[in-house]
Amino acid sequence: MHVAVLGTGIMGAGMTRSLLRAGHDIRVWNRTAARAQPLADDGATVAGTPAGAVEGAEVVLVMLWDSPAVLDVLGSAAGAAPDAVWLQGSTIGADGMREVAAARPDLRLVDAPVLGTKGPAEQGTLVALLSGAPADVAAAQPAIDGYSARSVYAGERLGAASALKLACNAWVATMNAAVGQSIALAEGLGLDPALFLEATRGGASDTPYLHMKAELIAKGEFPPSFTLAGAFKDVELIRAAARGVSVADDVLAGLVAAYGRAVAAGHGEEDMAAVYRAFPPG
Ligand code: NAP
Repeated sequence: MHVAVLGTGIMGAGMTRSLLRAGHDIRVWNRTAARAQPLADDGATVAGTPAGAVEGAEVVLVMLWDSPAVLDVLGSAAGAAPDAVWLQGSTIGADGMREVAAARPDLRLVDAPVLGTKGPAEQGTLVALLSGAPADVAAAQPAIDGYSARSVYAGERLGAASALKLACNAWVATMNAAVGQSIALAEGLGLDPALFLEATRGGASDTPYLHMKAELIAKGEFPPSFTLAGAFKDVELIRAAARGVSVADDVLAGLVAAYGRAVAAGHGEEDMAAVYRAFPPG
């Protein structure tokens, strides 16, 4: 298929490489051109404008930071591919997705956030969360299969897949902060944090995620798969969504405080595991 990718950050770049390996013809655009340029070596065509990227595309994948960025870029690109299916993959929440849908009733929009991070994006093994018109989803499925191992269809309502993404990210953001909290607590109480991993190993509360994030904390190095700034953006979106439907937000308020503190301390571009830095005493 002819696929355009708007936004070649951590996720967009990895998804582009997976789409290329799957045999699709890809044109990309990124606001900071230098970040898109390396994809030319992988076989993508790098366009100078969003409209130049989407011209002639059957599917457009939008992988930007937040809803203002999505609205802005759609505003300048939509007219160049009026018949394409537009997969909105950025994490913008259900309200953000509804806002985009209201602003662009002219487009065949599919709500298409993803689960998984840098590694699965590069490997083409993300989980695609989807909602929208079944015919539009079906038309884009070959492209979706290029970057994902499986899809979860949440119904026709635009915003349903983004709502599901918020529930999933609430889980991940809570687990990630809990890893940092328990390691800091073990250290604060005078224990080797390895004892915490040893004690939980193989039990029902053990999870590969714990070991992945504990390893980064042990090394004190946080190369980003998903940035702390991104996790902070998402916990704020999730708390607003919870408040909107009167779900108690006390745990989310704690997450917003912890992620916000680590971002304010200058760690926003590190991996989200660096939320650990919000916990240690002193
Ligand atoms: P990233 O590496 O920071 O990339 C963000 C992208 O958005 C870049 O292409 C950036 O362009 C672009 N952008 C930001 N503001 C813009 C604006 N005003 N106008 C035009 N372009 C703008 O982040 P990422 O990790 O790839 O995340 C992208 C989206 O996927 C986010 O919504 C994130 O929450 C979501 N997500 C991330 C992960 C993950 O694990 N990383 C997983 C699932 C979903 P520049 O390069 O010019 O800054």
